[in-house]
Amino acid sequence: MNDALVLLHDLIDMQVANLNEQKKFLESKKRALLLPHCSRKYLDNRCRAIFDTNITSYICAHCSEDCLISKADKIAKEKGYDIYVLPGGSCIPKIFNNVKYEGVVGVACGEEAKMLRSPLSNRGIAVQAIPLIKNGCVNTVFSIETLTEIL
Ligand code: SF4
Ligand code: SF4
Repeated sequence: MNDALVLLHDLIDMQVANLNEQKKFLESKKRALLLPHCSRKYLDNRCRAIFDTNITSYICAHCSEDCLISKADKIAKEKGYDIYVLPGGSCIPKIFNNVKYEGVVGVACGEEAKMLRSPLSNRGIAVQAIPLIKNGCVNTVFSIETLTEIL
């Protein structure tokens, strides 16, 4: 399969899984937003985020108003979400062993979304995934409009 087909396949899978869990997600109260570290505007030390090893997450310092992570963080905080900016799916157990979430919105590429969903679903957490529309692990992009709608 070429890259475009893989992307399309992942998008359809993600959409079907989201629809399956939508009702449960809408009923969830305690929620978290998982964001990918690769969508930070800067991946070097110009990013002022601090990495908190206790929760294995970057804490955005809002150094750049046009950074997608900064925008997403502000929108989600207003809606009462806990926010995690993760270097990878391996951080999941640490976070979810500490806090009992009922619903999770996760932004990720297709591969990462697949790895995120099953450990969370196994814990009874309703997941809504949002795909990266530009992936490649550097300066990746997601739709703030789609995120706002789902939150
Ligand atoms: S706005 Fe936040 S995530 Fe983006 S580069 Fe600055 S500190 Fe890093
Ligand atoms: S593109 Fe996917 S695999 Fe690469 S860093 Fe971002 S979320 Fe992780």
